[in-house]
Amino acid sequence: MSVLTIKNCLDPVLRKKCDLIQDINENLVTLSEDMIETMYAATGVGLAANQVGIASRLIVVDLGFKEEKHEPLIIVNPVITASEEEQIGQEGCLSIPEVYADVKRFQQVEVKGVDLNGKDVRLEAEGFMARAFQHEMDHLEGKLFWDMLGKVKRDMLKRKFKKILKEMQE
Ligand SMILES: [Zn+2]
Repeated sequence: MSVLTIKNCLDPVLRKKCDLIQDINENLVTLSEDMIETMYAATGVGLAANQVGIASRLIVVDLGFKEEKHEPLIIVNPVITASEEEQIGQEGCLSIPEVYADVKRFQQVEVKGVDLNGKDVRLEAEGFMARAFQHEMDHLEGKLFWDMLGKVKRDMLKRKFKKILKEMQE
């Protein structure tokens, strides 16, 4: 397994609508493993394939990381099939380091997709887990969390991000 480079939000791959995965092959298994490794290395709770430069519909999520128990979920071609109620909570993104904002999301979602064995998966998530799924699945549509905010707030966060990026490069 290897740690991949996480693309930041200025990379056009983060604006791509990702392709449906037709074939679950060895490359996809390796990519999934590397994405999990990358997510752990960055202490994130989720990662979408286009964040590591691959515009395919694959996400990994693991909320167990903070309790030091790894329970990674790998979902191929995920879709939200039902959603209920709303929540507002803080969100960040590994592609937009050190920038956080309150984002409105569904409180409960039902997610369907396929696992690495090609088997159908269906799961229900709520709270922070539901938030993580919605965030990662937005990536597959080329969306970033600040797209959910008003323009004034978004522009403010963009300026903050550019400042942080500049500091990181110095
Ligand atoms: Zn993100």
